[in-house]
Amino acid sequence: MVSSVPLSLLALGVFGLRSQDVAPEPEQPTVPVQVLSGPGDPALVEGSLRLDFGPAGFPVWVAPAEKLIFEVVIDLGLLGAGVGRVTLGSTVQRYVPGLAIPIEPDVPVLWAGTLMSAAEGRYLGYDLDHTLTTRFNPQAWPEVIHRDVQAGTENRRREVMIGMREGVALSSYRCDGHCRGCERREHFVEPTIPWRDDFHCKKCKRAGHRVWGELRVREVPSGSMDMLAAVWVARAFVREDGQSTGFTMVDKDRLWDVTLLRGDTRPIETPAGIFECTEVLLKSEVPRGEEEREFAGLFGIRGELQIWVHTRTGVPVLIRGRVPVGSLFDLGVRVQLERAQGTPAAFEGIASTR
Ligand SMILES: [Zn+2]
Ligand SMILES: [Zn+2]
Repeated sequence: MVSSVPLSLLALGVFGLRSQDVAPEPEQPTVPVQVLSGPGDPALVEGSLRLDFGPAGFPVWVAPAEKLIFEVVIDLGLLGAGVGRVTLGSTVQRYVPGLAIPIEPDVPVLWAGTLMSAAEGRYLGYDLDHTLTTRFNPQAWPEVIHRDVQAGTENRRREVMIGMREGVALSSYRCDGHCRGCERREHFVEPTIPWRDDFHCKKCKRAGHRVWGELRVREVPSGSMDMLAAVWVARAFVREDGQSTGFTMVDKDRLWDVTLLRGDTRPIETPAGIFECTEVLLKSEVPRGEEEREFAGLFGIRGELQIWVHTRTGVPVLIRGRVPVGSLFDLGVRVQLERAQGTPAAFEGIASTR
């Protein structure tokens, strides 16, 4: 019911969830911070990498060393509880197609970009560490690699790749789950009844007992993007004066028709200061012919996502939505900017709030 919804898990902490055996997460993706040494590639503008997803009409700009730190607040009326922190960041790296091939001096330099969202929280004994990374490679397959790793009280990994294979736009998806039975001794547990032999663990939350499931490949419309790229498109959308646009988003092995709508422009107050912002409404609908379901997106937010971005630079300042608490009701969530590094020079507040 709740295992895929990070913030709702935090919210459930309110109702007495307790942490269980927390196993170490073996394969945390790490994003090295690497500032570019020099320009020269036409795709790089002032160190940022420009990536075009045709149908959206607005690019993804990947800044070389941007870090935006947000405070997550769940709306509990007067209690208004802060439950964690989300960091959105990006890096640009030199792309090396194969580690064994030396880079020739006359070969043009290619760049890869990475977007990252890392959520950390601890609420009434429930630990969460949820990292999304999206890497863009200058190659046909995979052009986009999206990884979703949750550690803490719950452990799971997901991976989505998007790109072109033999002229066809495809996505592939795999996720991990508890091993259903194998010969690996480390998956065996001691019996509670002394005269029984050790047996293969049937179900637990240990990260070490999880194995990758089958790969699911499907056709997707060309120019499809993942959830993080969609948030970055919303940035260019506001900065480049977009009014409305749409594109296809891939989440796991499912497609969503996403619409961006421009809303009001007004000052928004956050712990980082007061910023002149424009609202973008991000609506997700099930494409025709696909199975009905509710959208559960970034930070576990359901349905519509409101993103307030700095009008001049497109830096996100406030993200709002609702997260479900069990199956009964929703809580409002605010993800508000606390501090920022590596942002465009024109990103500045109207006034400080502190
Ligand atoms: Zn096993
Ligand atoms: Zn197990």
